[in-house]
Amino acid sequence: MTRITAGLAGAPTEVDLVVVGLGITGAGVALDAATRGLTVLAVDAHDLAFGTSRWSSKLVHGGLRYLAHGQLGVAHESAVERGILMQVTAPHLTHAMPYVVPFGTAIGRVAAWCTRSGIRAGDVLRRGARTDAETLPGPRRLSATETLHEAPPLRRQGLRGSIMSWDGQLEDDARLVVTVARTAASQGAHVRTRARVLTASGTRVELRDELTGETRTVTARAVVNATGVWAGDLDDAVRLRPSRGTHLVLREGAVPGLHVAVFCPVPGEFNRYVMVLPQPDGTLYVGLTDEPVTGPVPDVPEPTDAEVDFLLGVVSAAMAHPVDRSHVVGAFAGLRPLLDTTHHDADASTADLSRRHAVLTGPTGMVTVVGGKLTTYRRMAEDAVDAALAASGLAARACRTRSLPLLGAADREVLAALEEPARLVRRFGTDAALVLDRARSVTGLDDDELLAPVAEGVPVTLAELVFGVTDEGAHDVDDLLDRRTRVGLVPVDRAACVSAAQRALDLAGRSVTRHR
Ligand SMILES: Cc1cc2nc3c(=O)[nH]c(=O)nc-3n(C[C@H](O)[C@H](O)[C@H](O)COP(=O)(O)OP(=O)(O)OC[C@H]3O[C@@H](n4cnc5c(N)ncnc54)[C@H](O)[C@@H]3O)c2cc1C
Repeated sequence: MTRITAGLAGAPTEVDLVVVGLGITGAGVALDAATRGLTVLAVDAHDLAFGTSRWSSKLVHGGLRYLAHGQLGVAHESAVERGILMQVTAPHLTHAMPYVVPFGTAIGRVAAWCTRSGIRAGDVLRRGARTDAETLPGPRRLSATETLHEAPPLRRQGLRGSIMSWDGQLEDDARLVVTVARTAASQGAHVRTRARVLTASGTRVELRDELTGETRTVTARAVVNATGVWAGDLDDAVRLRPSRGTHLVLREGAVPGLHVAVFCPVPGEFNRYVMVLPQPDGTLYVGLTDEPVTGPVPDVPEPTDAEVDFLLGVVSAAMAHPVDRSHVVGAFAGLRPLLDTTHHDADASTADLSRRHAVLTGPTGMVTVVGGKLTTYRRMAEDAVDAALAASGLAARACRTRSLPLLGAADREVLAALEEPARLVRRFGTDAALVLDRARSVTGLDDDELLAPVAEGVPVTLAELVFGVTDEGAHDVDDLLDRRTRVGLVPVDRAACVSAAQRALDLAGRSVTRHR
C-alpha cells in the first residue's frame, strides 16, 4: 500500500536527492525528480501540507495579478500552468469557478473600466496559454438585473452591472499536495512525515525522527530546500518577508443563494477586492488580507480581530444583508513565503514583493526554491530540479511532469461517467473505486457504513478516512481531520468527527502495520 509513512524507520541513508518540506513545492520536486529516474527521499517535519499550502484561497490563478503589475512573462507562465493543471495533470481536482465583480457604489467608473480591461486581458492570456473555452469560458459584461440573477445576495442599490468571468478552483489545496506526494511515491520516491531536517548542505542532511527522537545523517548528490516560510532556518542567506493572508469560513446560509464567487471591491482602494468563494463542500470562504509579519514564524498562524472585521466590513458593504461575526464558523491564516528583495527599504509593502518563485543555489550547493504559488508548483519543481542537477553534476532524464497526469486524473467526460459517489470522484478522480475497495477490504464494513457522512452535516466519509491511513500516510487524528480532509476548518465540525477519525486509525492502522 503506502510508501508515505511517518518517521524514518527503513528510510534510505544514501540517495540522489533529498527534498526538505512537503508542501506543494517539495511534493512537486519529489515527483519531478522521481520521474527523471533519481532516487529521492522527501521529508516533512510535521505532515504533508502542514504549512502554507493548506491555508490558500484554493484558486488556480491565471496570472491577472501579474498582468496588473506589467509582468507579462510571469502572467503567461501562470496561465500556462493553470491550463496544464486543469486540462492534463489534475482535471479531477480542479474545476472552472464563475465569478462576478459587481460595479456598485464601492467602485468608480474608471476603476470599473480598468477591471473590465484587466479581465479581458486575462482572457487573452488564457487563449495564449491554449486553455480552451470549454475549460474556462471567456468574460462577459452583465447588466444590473443579470448580475442579481447570477448573484442574488448582492446589494441592489447603486448596482450598475458587473463583469462575469471564470478562473480555476481547486477541490482542496491540501488534497492537491497529498495527490502530488502520492504520485511521487508511486514513481519510487520515499516520502516521510515526522522527519525534521536539523541541518542541511548540498550533499547531506541531518534528520531527526520526530516519533523516536533518533537522529541520523543522509547523504545525497543534491539537496533541495522547499520549506516555504521556514527556508531561512536551513540557509541563513535566504531572507523572507512573510505576509499573512486571512480567510473566514461561513456556512452557505450566511449569504443565501450564492453559487458564484463574488469579488467585492474594497471601498476607497484601487484594484483591491475581498473574495467570497463558494466551496465544493457547501461552505464559503471570505478572503483575503495581506499583512506584513515580523518575528518568529509560528507553526500555525492565527487571524487577528482586525482582519476579521475588515473582511466582514467589505463583504457587508457589497451584500444586501450584512454578514457579521455570528455567521463566522471558522477562520484561518497562512503566511506567503515572499523573498525579501528589498532589504534596503524596511517599509516596503509586502504587496510589492515579488510573487514569482525564486531558485537560489547556496555556497554548499543546496538549492532553495521559494515563493510562487500552488498554481505554478510544477514549473517551480522543474526549475529547482534543473538547478540541483546543474549544481551537483548529476545526470537525469528531461522533465516530464508537463504531460504526466497525477494519480486519479482523467478527462472530464471520463470523470463525469464514473459511478462512485460524487464526493469521492471529486477528491480522488478515477481512484474513487480504489478508495472504496481499500476501505471495504481493510475494514470488512459495508458501503452504507463506509459512505455515510461521519457526523451530521459533515460530508466526510469513513472510506476516505481509512484511505488516508492506508495510502496517504496519515498518522493521527490531526492528519486526517486537518490535512487529508479539511473538517478542521470548522472547529465544531472537527469536534464531531474526532471519534470517526480515531476509528479509521484503529481499523486501518492494524492493516498498515501488517503490510510493513
Ligand atoms: C493566504 C494565502 C492564500 C493563497 N492562495 C493561493 C491560491 O489561491 N492559489 C495559489 O496558486 N497560491 C496561493 N497561495 C500561495 C501558495 O499557497 C504558496 O505559495 C504555497 O503553498 C507555498 O508552498 P510551499 O510548499 O513552498 O510551502 P509550505 O506549504 O509552507 O511547505 C513547507 C513545508 O516545509 C516543512 N518544513 C519546514 N521546516 C522543515 C524542516 N526543517 N524539516 C522538514 N520539513 C520542514 C513544513 O512543515 C511545511 O510542510 C496563497 C498563499 C497564502 C498565504
